[in-house]
Amino acid sequence: MARNESKSSENADESCIFCLIAHNRDEETTVLKKDKELVCFKDIYPAAPHHYLVIPTEHIISCKSLKRGNIGLVERMANFGKQVLRDQGITDMEDVRLGFHQPPFTSVDHLHLHVLAPASKISTSMDYKFTPGTDRFITEEYLRKRLEKVRPKVCEMIGQFFELK
Ligand code: 5GP
Ligand code: ZN
Repeated sequence: MARNESKSSENADESCIFCLIAHNRDEETTVLKKDKELVCFKDIYPAAPHHYLVIPTEHIISCKSLKRGNIGLVERMANFGKQVLRDQGITDMEDVRLGFHQPPFTSVDHLHLHVLAPASKISTSMDYKFTPGTDRFITEEYLRKRLEKVRPKVCEMIGQFFELK
């Protein structure tokens, strides 16, 4: 990932459980897949037979911290999660749900993609938490489309220049 893709701090937050997991400092979590940019592990309270979280190693707060330049990151997170599902034996990629909770409906302030399968087996009591198109939960696809509508930084700067004149 380009260093300037996110405005959030690039440093690990010592008080953030997902930073600890990303840096192999949480003994209770088994990491399923990891590269330089992303880490995937099981959700501690699974809402479906397969429920994984994909996080960036970098401490980015939430999907609301993301800018247009982070579309690639979101896409890579989704592909990473799908690969873990395949590794775990999931073959019906139509029956999966990938998405983000939005603040204030987040409980951990480190960007994480929920990866659930089969979507048809999300537990009834938890279903409300993972219903796409609500203020609470948005799909990764919806987030990418929303980020595409964010004005590029250069446009913001041109706009500010003309407002100042
Ligand atoms: P949120 O509601 O913020 O989108 O979801 C955070 C998720 O992280 C929850 O589904 C919760 O079960 C999971 N979680 C919270 N703390 C831990 C932890 O220490 N280890 C793991 N593996 N999952 C966690
Ligand atoms: Zn963190």
